[in-house]
Amino acid sequence: MNIKKFENQVKCICKNIVIFEIIPEVECDWGIHTIIQCPKCEELFSIDVKCPAFGNIELLWEQNIELYTKHEQISYLVNSLVLAVEIDSSPKAFINSALLAAPPTFIIFSSMLQRYCC
Ligand SMILES: [Zn+2]
Ligand SMILES: [Zn+2]
Repeated sequence: MNIKKFENQVKCICKNIVIFEIIPEVECDWGIHTIIQCPKCEELFSIDVKCPAFGNIELLWEQNIELYTKHEQISYLVNSLVLAVEIDSSPKAFINSALLAAPPTFIIFSSMLQRYCC
């Protein structure tokens, strides 16, 4: 993950256009992440994996079309799926939300996984 993209202005879910503060190596119960924090609303997002301790970065993708490439989105979603299986072994809800948001290759990937784990 190239964190340099967060040195540019990003539209936050609070509708403000901000430069996120980057906080590397934040440890939570489920791993170590690089976190970004909005200076206005103070919402925190994990930028490399969806972690239940932090906000949903997919909402930032909706506001900022160019923020993550398709490849980065797929990699984020795959990392998140692996984590979801690790932490609650019922990734069905995650897979359903990924299916709604995801590019076609991830739809194929997640429907394959669904057969094994749900
Ligand atoms: Zn975490
Ligand atoms: Zn904000």
